[in-house]
Amino acid sequence: MPYIVTDECILCGACVVGCPSDAIEEGETKCQINVDLCIECGTCEQNCPSGAIIFVEQEEPVSSRTPS
Ligand code: SF4
Ligand code: SF4
Repeated sequence: MPYIVTDECILCGACVVGCPSDAIEEGETKCQINVDLCIECGTCEQNCPSGAIIFVEQEEPVSSRTPS
């Protein structure tokens, strides 16, 4: 999940329109990126007027964590 949408999203729709692979859709309070469709082009990050889209390092899958 390299690109994520934070709560800074104001649902302006710019990222949805600009995404070349239709990977973004508007949710209730913010947009959501479909990681299966995202090609990590970075266009949405550049288009977002509120800086809501950020790139994060791959998070450790929950399934790989050892139960404590
Ligand atoms: S990085 Fe590119 S492909 Fe991925 S959601 Fe943003 S605009 Fe779409
Ligand atoms: S461009 Fe940014 S503020 Fe606009 S809908 Fe997308 S994530 Fe939200």
